[in-house]
Amino acid sequence: MKVLILGSGQLARMLSLAAAPLGIRVLAVDVRAHEVVDPVTFQVQPESIYQAMQQADLISVEFEHIARPLLEQAEETGKLLPNRIAVRSGADRLEEKSLLDRLGIPTSPWRFIEDVGQMVPAAEQLGYPLVLKSCRDGYDGYGQWRLKSPDQLAELSQTLHKLDLAANPLIAEQFVAFEREVSVVGARDRSGATAIYPITENLHFEGQLRLSLAPARGLTPKLQEQAESAFHRLTTELDFCGIMAIEFFKVNGQLWVNELAPRVHNSGHWSQRGSRTSQFENHIRAVCGLPLGDTHLTCPTAMINIIGYVPPNWNMLRVPGCSLHWYEKALKPKRKLGHFNLVAENTRQLGQRLNELAAYLPAEHFPFLRETAEELLG
Ligand code: AMP
Repeated sequence: MKVLILGSGQLARMLSLAAAPLGIRVLAVDVRAHEVVDPVTFQVQPESIYQAMQQADLISVEFEHIARPLLEQAEETGKLLPNRIAVRSGADRLEEKSLLDRLGIPTSPWRFIEDVGQMVPAAEQLGYPLVLKSCRDGYDGYGQWRLKSPDQLAELSQTLHKLDLAANPLIAEQFVAFEREVSVVGARDRSGATAIYPITENLHFEGQLRLSLAPARGLTPKLQEQAESAFHRLTTELDFCGIMAIEFFKVNGQLWVNELAPRVHNSGHWSQRGSRTSQFENHIRAVCGLPLGDTHLTCPTAMINIIGYVPPNWNMLRVPGCSLHWYEKALKPKRKLGHFNLVAENTRQLGQRLNELAAYLPAEHFPFLRETAEELLG
């Protein structure tokens, strides 16, 4: 079988690596260069995007911000999974928030902003602090502005006047004083069967995920149930097939959805080592019509992103239970270049190993490692 992925970054690469043992070949579309590439070797393939779509058995995506014409072209082949509406739902915050409200899934209160004049009434209704987010093309904290108090309104209005809000509007959202950020990653197959991973805890710095812990600390059956209920409602509504990730804020023991990703997700990378079936394999299984794999946690796992920094050596791989995925990308500030997965037999051992790993990694590029290790050793 052949699968074509729209997007050719590390997610397409890890999907390809997970598909190979199943005898499934993955090619990817570099959406910037408009080329078909092998996402593992980066070699440009001779076929056109049209030809690759014709030759593929299935077409899927590694990110949601796919240009409309390309997504429509994929949909017209009848091979696109998840479907176009489901992919779009994760690409536009207005559609996402409206969908959550329609399904009665808790999310932070919000207002739609398509004109700077709507800012003041929105702020009065929602209260301070606020966060403004571009509806489209915002991710990892890009396209976001925080508003702590009314005296920042004038300055922010000036910034917003420079944006084309008619073309890319905003949502204003209440800033949530959350206890923790967590996410759930799950697979849904073509028949509607699901396999859901345990909730993961996520630590962000400047809007970017830095460290995930699976299972999340303080995970209760009630929280897992809430997350799974949101997953079932969203995926059923969207007639979803593949992996979906839902990010939440934990507020007073409740889960409020922050955003959803209709694709494999950074907060599910731990499943490569901490579960019997990785999210990448389960995505391939789901879209190709294969039975879904076991999503149970086999051992406590930490996933550590390598962002904007190239380690001078790989000596940290001496730490027992440490494995590396290096994406072979050029260094840029804030760019995700790879990740470590760290597994252990129990939480205490994970704390010890995280401490050992931290000794190899500069704290300014790897926030949270030392504190989390101490807390796990607690
Ligand atoms: P996002 O791109 O929406 O996932 O935002 C990136 C990160 O910014 C989140 O993971 C949170 O750490 C923070 N953030 C976003 N929205 C809010 C909010 N309404 N309240 C508090 N923190 C937020």
